[in-house]
Amino acid sequence: MPSRTPIVVGNWKMTQDKASAVALAVGVHQAWGAGSGVEVGVCPAFVHLDAVGAALRQAGSRVILGAQDVWTDPNGAFTGEVSLSMLTDLGVQLVLCGHSERRHVIGESDELVGKKVSAVLNAGLRAILCCGETLSEREAGQTDRVNERQVRAGLAGVKADQLDRLVIAYEPVWAIGTGRNATPGDAQAAHVRIRAVVASLFGDAAAGAMRIQYGGSMKPDNARALIDQPDVDGGLIGGAALKAETFLPIVQAAVGSR
Ligand code: PEP
Repeated sequence: MPSRTPIVVGNWKMTQDKASAVALAVGVHQAWGAGSGVEVGVCPAFVHLDAVGAALRQAGSRVILGAQDVWTDPNGAFTGEVSLSMLTDLGVQLVLCGHSERRHVIGESDELVGKKVSAVLNAGLRAILCCGETLSEREAGQTDRVNERQVRAGLAGVKADQLDRLVIAYEPVWAIGTGRNATPGDAQAAHVRIRAVVASLFGDAAAGAMRIQYGGSMKPDNARALIDQPDVDGGLIGGAALKAETFLPIVQAAVGSR
């Protein structure tokens, strides 16, 4: 099996105030310490990126600073949106693209998500492309078809030499924030199919090197079983990322998985 360093990223969504965001980031940094064998990232709300980034830099932290979204154009009349240069100015290194809530609550299309992935990679940052089926799609037996459609559209503008800055997150919509996670076997099966889609686009070597995280009610008590699956390369974590004491055991599970 190719060796892929697992990556565990916390998506803090629309939670925290400035002080608690900084405290959480510092808490993650201090608890993780000089840990190795895993990459760790946090994605605060836009308005907290500056303060969280400053705190992480001051601590000399290796915790990756991520944003939850971005707009595709470099500047202009896009009221309420945030550009890549604004993010890089704050030290952001990674951007989530096509999170389930962006797709299903805000209404982002596959095509827009693909444009965001390309814009992020073209700007030299790292992207996490999220994909995943809804409950009705799963019940209709369309899990693999939906993932394939979202991954193909998400990678439509990506160049082969940008793939090392891309991670895919498989996040079944029905598992996000519900307390109901995919079984390790279900996650593994979906990841294998997603990897096959990457292989069909970029070849086996690129697919073998691609990290595919699982997201959806990953918690300290189920993380190890999920990340132990050979094609599950870490986690994208919502609820359990909001406290260092529930996030760190997931990070440790990822370290122990390889
Ligand atoms: C997420 O928001 O990406 C997520 C996986 O949330 P939760 O862990 O709360 O299901």
